[in-house]
Amino acid sequence: MKIFIILFFLSSFLFSFNLEISDKNIANGATSLFEFKKEKGLEYKKLTLGKRDFKVYNNPLDTTKMYALLPISYYTKAKQESVKITYLKDGNTLVKSIKIDVKDGNYKKEKIQVRKSKVNPKGKKTNERISKEYHEAMSIYAQSTKKNYLSSKFILPMQSFITSDFGKARVYNDTLKGYHSGTDFRAKVGTPIISSNAGIVVLVKHRFYSGGTVIVNHGQGIYTCYYHMSKFLVEKNQKLQKGDVLGLSGKSGRVTGPHLHFSVRVGGVQVDPLQFVELMNKYILEKKEL
Ligand SMILES: [Zn+2]
Repeated sequence: MKIFIILFFLSSFLFSFNLEISDKNIANGATSLFEFKKEKGLEYKKLTLGKRDFKVYNNPLDTTKMYALLPISYYTKAKQESVKITYLKDGNTLVKSIKIDVKDGNYKKEKIQVRKSKVNPKGKKTNERISKEYHEAMSIYAQSTKKNYLSSKFILPMQSFITSDFGKARVYNDTLKGYHSGTDFRAKVGTPIISSNAGIVVLVKHRFYSGGTVIVNHGQGIYTCYYHMSKFLVEKNQKLQKGDVLGLSGKSGRVTGPHLHFSVRVGGVQVDPLQFVELMNKYILEKKEL
């Protein structure tokens, strides 16, 4: 009897998943990746950080594995956090906690002078437009399709110099107005912009801040966004292959000059696009290069 109890205790104590975490020490604005090996009797459901849930999905290229992305909001303070993993074991819902350390991304500050009307938009109509565009985008990012369109590595939307990195604190006309939410590429008006991976076009629109905007859904809560375009060459609901031309770069919306602003949303959270692309290519999409 005694032996049985000890064995039971040991087995539950030693029980752990076959889990690999890309980074347990992660900067605000970056993404970490949890990769699970599928096991009989175990079903991984979601990660929870604070009030946000992030679903566990099938790995698109490896049927023996599942994964979840853990995007760390830019506004998360540097400290130890607890990530809860919810899973089903033999039909019972269980939760396991894992500690991660959020570190300070040490982002730079950037001062920008723009037309005053774009900083403090005046007028009811403009404010209504901004609010409508914001809520429309948020409802898109909140959707995560089970299907994943990814079959090969992400590429950058153009080959050009990066003129502004993700995360720079932005001070417009001496007022702190958040942070730079994407990566800017130098691009004279009319430069082709390509889709960084396969997906479905979910938004094609001229917006107040981001100007000519295209958003692509890659499935499983992953979206890429392309701003300030001068011409659209895709339509909403269009299916895309990686590298398809979305449109031409421009200087529409809130800009000081022509460029491409490229951004990424994961599970509704805005993240560093270049770190995300590197992470996905290294851990999930490394198997196949098309
Ligand atoms: Zn930008």
